[in-house]
Amino acid sequence: MSRFADRRIENISPYVPGEQPRDRKYIKLNTNENPYYASAYAVSAVDGELLLNLKRYSDPECRDLASAIADFYGVQSDQIMITNGSDEALAFAFYAYCRQGVCFADVTYGFYEVIARLFGCPVEKISLDEQFKIVPDNYFYKGKSVVIANPNAQTGIALGGDKIEEIIAKNADNIVIIDQAYADFGEFNAIELTKKYDNLVTVNTFSKSRSLAGARVGYIIADRRLIEDLKKVKNSFHPYNVNTVSLLLAARAMEDREYFLSCMEKIKATRASFAEQLIARGFEVLPSSANFVLARSPKTDGKSLYESLRAKGILVRHFNDERIAEYIRITIGTDAEMGRLLSAIDQITGENNEKS
Ligand SMILES: *Cc1c(COP(=O)(O)O)cnc(C)c1O
Repeated sequence: MSRFADRRIENISPYVPGEQPRDRKYIKLNTNENPYYASAYAVSAVDGELLLNLKRYSDPECRDLASAIADFYGVQSDQIMITNGSDEALAFAFYAYCRQGVCFADVTYGFYEVIARLFGCPVEKISLDEQFKIVPDNYFYKGKSVVIANPNAQTGIALGGDKIEEIIAKNADNIVIIDQAYADFGEFNAIELTKKYDNLVTVNTFSKSRSLAGARVGYIIADRRLIEDLKKVKNSFHPYNVNTVSLLLAARAMEDREYFLSCMEKIKATRASFAEQLIARGFEVLPSSANFVLARSPKTDGKSLYESLRAKGILVRHFNDERIAEYIRITIGTDAEMGRLLSAIDQITGENNEKS
């Protein structure tokens, strides 16, 4: 730290993203990116004319993208705010609604705690049960804002729509933020509920299911009055928050429904067969509704499995957090990538057998 930094910076522990190493070519199954390219229809929209037009500011209202999203979900455009990735959406929502206190699960997306600390929001952590499931009763009548990733980050486990609705209904005087980064890989989407509840903020992203992690586009869908609040925050912080190229890519990706659905089908099918093969090898695999699985080897601990795989050119994610330190989180890639991973696991666990 420099001697000029504000005192508040001293105690911040920033979010640590999954590694993006460049020393060799890895099979990358560590940050829950999509293995398939973004829609070709979307990518082909980026032409020379668009790039020349970068001399102009982007549309601060993001109208074309908002209307593509409105069409897709059957909501009104004034229920939507576009953000620079959904992390920015979370930051705006925490700033607007969490200063009096916020609660979320003890095992979930690490960014919630980071952003809460940055903004000075008091945090209450709510334990998942023994099976890493959210216990809905623990979220009723909280008297503070509630944040739930659904499906949950790190575990992949989803809470059903009826339970999510009950939590929203039983916090009528508080904001409930549902982070839907992985919703497209599961069965339930909370966006429909934004028409019924004025305390629901859904946070959504193009990074995972739409293959546009590097474009940095997210969006909030909520009651119109909440969007008014959030736009006040956005326009006080960064009015031109999303660039012109990303806006067009995202709008086109939203329009390409068929490609999107085919990617989701492929990833779900790969997830099912991959989980089966891990289970056949004695792994414990949490039931995932996301594009990753959290799994524990019967033979090696999480950290050393992560390290052995890395040495073989395969990146997965390991977390030091006490409750999941024995596990590794594996992003669902292509069938070929999962096949390579399984062979590597067989080699590693085979080696261990010989030693013992
Ligand atoms: C990936 C992820 C995000 C952030 O995605 P962006 O790339 O910033 O849109 C938000 N929440 C969860 C739970 C995630 O896994």
